[in-house]
Amino acid sequence: MAVRPRLRRQFCRTLVRMTSEDSLAAQTAPGNEDLDSPRFARVQGKLLHWFGGNRRDLPWRRSRDPYQILVSEVMLQQTQVDRVLPYYRAFLDRFPTAAALAAAPTADVIRTWSGLGYNRRAVNLQRTARYVVDEEDGVFPRDVDALRRLPGIGPYTAGAIACFAFEQDVAFIDTNMRRVLHRLFVGVDVPAPQVPDRTVIAIAERALPPGLGWDWNQGLIEFGALHCTSRKPACVVCPLQPECRAFPAIQGVLAAARATPRPRREPAFAGSNRFYRGRIIAALRDLPGGVQSSGIDLRSLGPLVRPDFRDEHVPWLSSVIDGLARDGLARIAEECPPYDAGTGEGGGSARVKVRLP
Ligand code: SF4
Repeated sequence: MAVRPRLRRQFCRTLVRMTSEDSLAAQTAPGNEDLDSPRFARVQGKLLHWFGGNRRDLPWRRSRDPYQILVSEVMLQQTQVDRVLPYYRAFLDRFPTAAALAAAPTADVIRTWSGLGYNRRAVNLQRTARYVVDEEDGVFPRDVDALRRLPGIGPYTAGAIACFAFEQDVAFIDTNMRRVLHRLFVGVDVPAPQVPDRTVIAIAERALPPGLGWDWNQGLIEFGALHCTSRKPACVVCPLQPECRAFPAIQGVLAAARATPRPRREPAFAGSNRFYRGRIIAALRDLPGGVQSSGIDLRSLGPLVRPDFRDEHVPWLSSVIDGLARDGLARIAEECPPYDAGTGEGGGSARVKVRLP
């Protein structure tokens, strides 16, 4: 078994707690009768061996810095590895530490994030960094429960930091891990999983080899990303095929799904408020230097966001910007005195100025 020899010391085994309901769910999972130790050991050995020979050399895999791990995990949410790589490097060049990120103007953070999408992730990331600097003396907590108390950190990210930065044996699941564990230990997962997430978490806990949490969790993620993919798992050449509960049925189910024409994706995004939020952020980001600090009024901003902009769109634009401001992505400054606001159609709103935070 090609497992790196570095992880042989006694790790603190931090486990996501199983409730009695979780235990029950695990016991009643379909075909659970052979979820015994030898089977788990076979799966562990084969998957770790596969990971040893197939792992990609990704920069966050070379790091044990919790801040760098956090940045990578936030960027990888809803974004492919290849797309993340240049942004990850540029972001860490610009903000190499949590302290640097915390001290930066939010507008700079949004600009550096520009092009990666889902700008709220950048603002939330800075919020987390500021909390760590202000409330934790700049030191990331090491255990899952403490990490989960940080703003913007959910169960997956807390588990990922505890495991990938501090090398603790923590069970957690993301989309890839969920798919692999479900197929191996439960069965076919399409069109929908047969068991709830708490059952998959319970399986993940059971499957985690003590002392090898880092390799195991990275291996699960990599195996789901490269081999046991959502639509085209490579079952024919899969080293885990003899252990897999989804094989061979999964191939037939996926072939049938591929043969069924999928409903055409409507470009519903264009024209939605989310679409215009992105346009507004881009317009604010690209304002000339002098205007960036003072902001731009809504009647001037409108045509930059939509070519058909008219005065009657001002209240709509104002409401979208209110949402951006609530999310920390825009800052509103009143240009007119309060007693003058609200006169005429969109008059008060139109005189409001907006800029990046
Ligand atoms: S046999 Fe197929 S479905 Fe099962 S783990 Fe391997 S690739 Fe995934």
